[in-house]
Amino acid sequence: MTENDKSELKIKAIENGTVIDHITANKALYILKILGLPDGETKNVTIAMNISSNEIGRKDILKIENRELDAEELNQVALISPKATINIIRNYEPIKKYKVGLPSQIKSILKCTNSKCITNYENEPITPIFHVVQSYPPIVRCHYCEKLIRTEDIEKQFE
Ligand SMILES: [Zn+2]
Repeated sequence: MTENDKSELKIKAIENGTVIDHITANKALYILKILGLPDGETKNVTIAMNISSNEIGRKDILKIENRELDAEELNQVALISPKATINIIRNYEPIKKYKVGLPSQIKSILKCTNSKCITNYENEPITPIFHVVQSYPPIVRCHYCEKLIRTEDIEKQFE
């Protein structure tokens, strides 16, 4: 039995739901924040952190029971973990597998770092929209003030 097999055994299989694999090591909690999973749902979430992976060295895995996240939600995972892979599980079998890929636009989940930006006005907040200028490592540009948000500033928002 390889080291990798042993790590896999620690995580129980789920009957139905979503498995996010190949998450950059120690970033699983950031991914939960990106997906906006409320605290009440954490009982359905299994997290394995910093386990060995043949493909990417070290990785995290998230298993989310009884919830099939859609591609739009899941592609936002690429902001933090561009190599993540998604498995949608039904009756213990993966029915769909794919790699995340950043969409061309990101809405709402990021904040503009320019305090004078219209999206940060207290009285009439506008939903932030960002254009992806580079997907790996990710860099986005604010639709309203054109401020560039770099990878490290993106990560800070999910710490
Ligand atoms: Zn802005």
